Amino acid sequence: MYHRPVCKKCETELKPEKNDIRLVDTFQDPPQPCKIWSADLWKCPGCGYEVVVGFGQGAIMEHWEDGFAGYLERCQRGTVIYNTERRCMNGKAFEDK
Ligand SMILES: [Zn+2]
Repeated sequence: MYHRPVCKKCETELKPEKNDIRLVDTFQDPPQPCKIWSADLWKCPGCGYEVVVGFGQGAIMEHWEDGFAGYLERCQRGTVIYNTERRCMNGKAFEDK
C-alpha cells in the first residue's frame, strides 16, 4: 500500500508539484556532481514546504560514465535540485577520509 507524504506542521497531505525532476548528489569539497537521479518534487499546500521523493531504483548516470557533463548540462533545461551534503548517500568511502 502507498500513502502520500504528510506535512507534520500542517497535518496535510503533500501534493505532487513536479514529476521527473533531476536530483544531483554531490561529493568532495567544493561539491562536485556525482550521481543524477530522477525524482518527484512534492509540496505542502498549507505551508509551502517542499521535499524531493520518489527516487528510482538506481541513478540515471554517475560521474565516471561517458557523457556525464553533457547530460547534466541538458538537465538544466528542466528542474535540477542539488543534494550538497559533502558525501554521497551511498558513498561510504568518503566518510573514511
Ligand atoms: Zn505544511
